[in-house]
Amino acid sequence: MLIMKFGGTSVGKPERMKKIAELVLSTPGKKIVVLSALSGTTNALVSIGEHLLAGQKAKAEEVIVDLEKHYEAFIKELYGSEAFLAIGQEIVSRYFIFIRLLAAGQFDNKSYRELLAQGELISTELFYQHVQERKISARLLPALYFMSIDENEEPELEKISERLKPLLSSLNNIEVIITQGYICRNHRNEIDNLKRGGSDYTASLIGSAIRAEEIQIWTDIDGMHNNDPRIVKKTIPISELTFDEASELAYFGAKILHPSTIVPAQKYNVPVRLKNTMDEKAFGTIITSKGTEGSFKAIAAKDGITAINIKSSRMLMAYGFLRRVFEVFENHKTSIDMVTTSEVAVSLTIDNNTHLASIENELKKFGNIEVDKDQAIICIVGNKITEQKGMLNKIFDALAEIPLRMICSGGSPNNVTVLVHKQYKNKALNLLNEGLFGLK
Ligand code: ADP
Ligand code: ASP
Ligand code: MG
Repeated sequence: MLIMKFGGTSVGKPERMKKIAELVLSTPGKKIVVLSALSGTTNALVSIGEHLLAGQKAKAEEVIVDLEKHYEAFIKELYGSEAFLAIGQEIVSRYFIFIRLLAAGQFDNKSYRELLAQGELISTELFYQHVQERKISARLLPALYFMSIDENEEPELEKISERLKPLLSSLNNIEVIITQGYICRNHRNEIDNLKRGGSDYTASLIGSAIRAEEIQIWTDIDGMHNNDPRIVKKTIPISELTFDEASELAYFGAKILHPSTIVPAQKYNVPVRLKNTMDEKAFGTIITSKGTEGSFKAIAAKDGITAINIKSSRMLMAYGFLRRVFEVFENHKTSIDMVTTSEVAVSLTIDNNTHLASIENELKKFGNIEVDKDQAIICIVGNKITEQKGMLNKIFDALAEIPLRMICSGGSPNNVTVLVHKQYKNKALNLLNEGLFGLK
């Protein structure tokens, strides 16, 4: 079984949706097709939800009207016959009646999450009807029947696998099974999601749960590039990456993959292939456990980082001190990305400020606390770069002009992370591109 996931841009225009139907058809064997919402839809749903939470019903209705028009135009191009256009119209009007019903009621966080799920629900229904029109043998398998997260918002891989087994064996004769990315149920059995960009994660969770042959992530670029193409002009695709390398890049900001995508795939050793829907002949990137030669592989950056410095000459070297500091973060369900220590202070970073005020308050018992918001982590990934002579020099030579707030190296031989103020992020990415890859 193959998993084929198509992102928002791959289904965002009627001709692209038709194109992916062809791609699926021309790929031999059985496959599970995971679809995102049409590009722009989840952003629109976020904006509708935020207006509603703020009590701005009229503003929400304006966005709903625009979105509805978009779908009405979309189906006119997607379906060839009057009969299927009528089916498409019924689907669109049903979803928009439901969205308006959600908007009219008591709108809380639960309704918000339900609203966010509508994008993937509608895209998969429209695509399913499109393949029906083309007489392809396919079935729609609702993700809400099997995809779930626990009270810590962690996917329940074992349960997902157990639920999928009977569902898939009942579809034994079907070549193409279509399901929604991103959406799931939470521990209260409510509709929830795997966070923005989560369709990649859905694909890797399904692929790992059923030990698929391969997880394919089809998007709008020819694989993982050596640097962020939205910020750096000249970037190049990387044909092979290890799970560790890809995982670091995804976690530290390479938007092509949801940060957790690689985790289940690595656990069950299922290869992940990144492919370009706009250029299917391009090789893309294959991610496996196999190490590859070479030195520097890629650079990624993650914004919205807060650095916290705890200065405590009295206590720092005492045993148990770091454990007590980390416990404060654990109690607030806030994970730490970078850590550095000195004789008198410890610095660490977090990417979630939800509980910052209370964390700061509790840390005060350990000493003086300084908090710097608006930082960015730059992550340099390569093959054993911290073990090879001269590699670190190359990084620091390239970044000579940039003030570095923190430096972490040695946690893994394949990665170095530095923390800079967000104003230096773009410059740092460009300087590293030139210094490490000779690309300008
Ligand atoms: P999809 O809608 O298919 O999920 P995304 O927009 O989430 O697509 O991800 C693809 C985008 O990720 C690319 O268009 C590119 O701009 C961005 N991106 C950021 N960093 C990288 C990288 N290192 N390599 C490739 N693409 C990247
Ligand atoms: N539609 C969701 C989002 O825009 C999930 C995804 O595209 O992966 O975040
Ligand atoms: Mg994405």
